[in-house]
Amino acid sequence: MPGPPWKEASRGAAFGTLQQFLPRAGSEYAAQRNFDYGPAMRSNVSGLSEYVRHRLILESEVLEATLQRHSFVAASKFIDEVFWRAYFKGWLEHHPTVWTDYRSVVQSLVDSLETNSDLKARYERAIHAGTGIDCFDAWVNELISTGYLHNHARMWFASIWVYTLQLPWQLGADFFYRHLVDGDPASNTLSWRWVCGLHTKGKTYLARISNIASYTAGRFNPQGLLAHDAKPLNESQIHAARPIPQAHALPAALRFGLLVTEEDCTPESLPFRNPPSALLGAVTTNARSPLPVGLLARQFAIGAVADGVERAALHFGLPAQGAQSDSWDDVLVAWARSNDLDAVVTAYAPVGPVAERLASARQSLANNRIELIQLMRAYDTCTWPHATKGYFKLKSMIPDVLERLGITGETQDAQRASN
Ligand SMILES: Cc1cc2nc3c(=O)[nH]c(=O)nc-3n(C[C@H](O)[C@H](O)[C@H](O)COP(=O)(O)OP(=O)(O)OC[C@H]3O[C@@H](n4cnc5c(N)ncnc54)[C@H](O)[C@@H]3O)c2cc1C
Repeated sequence: MPGPPWKEASRGAAFGTLQQFLPRAGSEYAAQRNFDYGPAMRSNVSGLSEYVRHRLILESEVLEATLQRHSFVAASKFIDEVFWRAYFKGWLEHHPTVWTDYRSVVQSLVDSLETNSDLKARYERAIHAGTGIDCFDAWVNELISTGYLHNHARMWFASIWVYTLQLPWQLGADFFYRHLVDGDPASNTLSWRWVCGLHTKGKTYLARISNIASYTAGRFNPQGLLAHDAKPLNESQIHAARPIPQAHALPAALRFGLLVTEEDCTPESLPFRNPPSALLGAVTTNARSPLPVGLLARQFAIGAVADGVERAALHFGLPAQGAQSDSWDDVLVAWARSNDLDAVVTAYAPVGPVAERLASARQSLANNRIELIQLMRAYDTCTWPHATKGYFKLKSMIPDVLERLGITGETQDAQRASN
């Protein structure tokens, strides 16, 4: 059976995908999720990641619908996976230097491709599907042509990139981030670091031939082509933890404009006290990398923001407007001034390019006496404080988090599972 419609960037498509998948979110998902049957057979996984990543659908909505349909125990594997995103986002909020460090290494590696001909030749062979390792070359083509790879293929790919092809992990993470429609600073960067033993210190992931053969149902069998060991990489930097930023409150009776970004495309459900006076959508997908970003990833982000703006326009009875510029400072100031705004309000942007754009615009707005207010969702404030070390700490809090969010579907069941 072919997979769900992957690429329509709308909230309607997100719910359509969820509805199609829900019957399979219980024991079937737990048994089948690790199999990569190829791009034409994706019904064993949800295909929700690009929607959740852009918040065209919220994690709380996915969890609510899942627990309406299945018991907590039956759907526990799927629920765990949904919480992995919160874990990675929360962990990166606590350790933002991991991101800034990654960004500066990508820039210097991209610069060095100009002078280091050996690195350039090996890198280009890899990203042009010319390694001669069938599975790896097929995944390169799949990634570029669909903007998606199965989770297991992402793990094998990253492991082969680092341990067989001996390429810098940051260039691989950048290649993923440029092409994945669900490309995400936290899930992507930290998953690559996990494969290399940098996230869980010393624990690496080695792609094994037998594992690839089994879980691709025999589609691939790279006999004799893969590295046999995976030594953990080291780094000299210590990434000190910071407290996660405080949630902003939205003062009542403030004349504000609502800014929609690719971090949150369901703006109509943000916690407002009074409605916005103006509406603007802005996209910064090109800032994912110094190298060109894939068309599918860009189109999806543009579509997701447009869909969010259109819905908010209907909801609040405002005209929809979009900004095209890559630099937001002047655009936001001009928009705020022309609408006589006291504040620009947007969903909290976690560590990544949108947060960088907003940090830069904050000062320009302040110079014009315009506040920048970022509203956090309850799901983030409930989960991120538990994302300080390994995933287990957050996992053990899942029943509590669900209860705090009012997602009580099968509370007693949840309680039993946690004991
Ligand atoms: C090297 C590597 C890079 C990755 N890069 C990204 C990325 O840039 N963006 C991204 O969204 N995911 C990333 N992932 C995680 C995961 O591969 C995808 O979220 C998943 O494959 C999406 O497919 P799905 O929606 O069908 O997943 P399902 O198996 O149906 O999972 C359900 C939902 O749980 C969440 N989820 C599942 N696994 C993970 C995970 N490991 N981390 C975070 N959330 C998860 C997603 O929101 C997903 O939609 C990466 C994994 C690896 C190993």
